[in-house]
Amino acid sequence: MLKENLANVEANIQAACQRSGRLREDITLIAVSKTKPIEMLQEIYTENVRNFGENKVQEICDKHPKLPADIKWHMIGHLQRNKVKQVIDKVCLIHSVDSYRLAEEINIQAKKLNIIMPILVQVNIAKEDTKFGINKEDAILLVEEISKLDSLHIQGLMTIAPFTENPEDNRQYFREIKQLTVDIKNKNIDNVAMEILSMGMTGDYMVAIEEGATMVRVGTGIFGERNYAKITS
Ligand SMILES: *Cc1c(COP(=O)(O)O)cnc(C)c1O
Repeated sequence: MLKENLANVEANIQAACQRSGRLREDITLIAVSKTKPIEMLQEIYTENVRNFGENKVQEICDKHPKLPADIKWHMIGHLQRNKVKQVIDKVCLIHSVDSYRLAEEINIQAKKLNIIMPILVQVNIAKEDTKFGINKEDAILLVEEISKLDSLHIQGLMTIAPFTENPEDNRQYFREIKQLTVDIKNKNIDNVAMEILSMGMTGDYMVAIEEGATMVRVGTGIFGERNYAKITS
């Protein structure tokens, strides 16, 4: 079943690329595997998926040692400062940096490991109270501040659009955040690239691609519905 789901998502990505004149190779599909068992991750690993997204530090730490080392793990959930240390050496990209204090802690831990940690700044594009992320108006200032931390590299922005039945409702938000990446890029801030735009989930990834996403985070569309009742930790 996962194989068919994946093929379906892949076909949708290609169709969205075609509609918007984009290249498939410019889009990274991140399989969001949160709450899902190792076996399911293994199954799509054999279908050549290498990018996996998780939103909990504990889950990354549990799954990481049990799966092949060439997997690229993405931290896509809210990250507490006291957990940065546990996860920094396991992930290729932290999508959810939304404060200077968090960036500072990532910088400290990256320095200890002698690495430059790639990050995205999370923007709360629709200003929803229930979502993390910095407001669009404050994003440029935060990017400028974080850019001074020398063991971090800002590679772009991430957003979680509102939950909606009609993905067209989110098109304007995707457009706004794409424009924000252009505005930031035009400022030519040292140590800041705007090459990655992480946006689009199962309900709206096609619209997100049409509006400029370079990474889409698809969970349900690949793995099926999540059952949170089963989670114990
Ligand atoms: C869970 C999650 C996703 C995937 O959501 P689906 O609707 O299942 O595709 C994407 N991004 C983030 C940040 C998530 O927490």
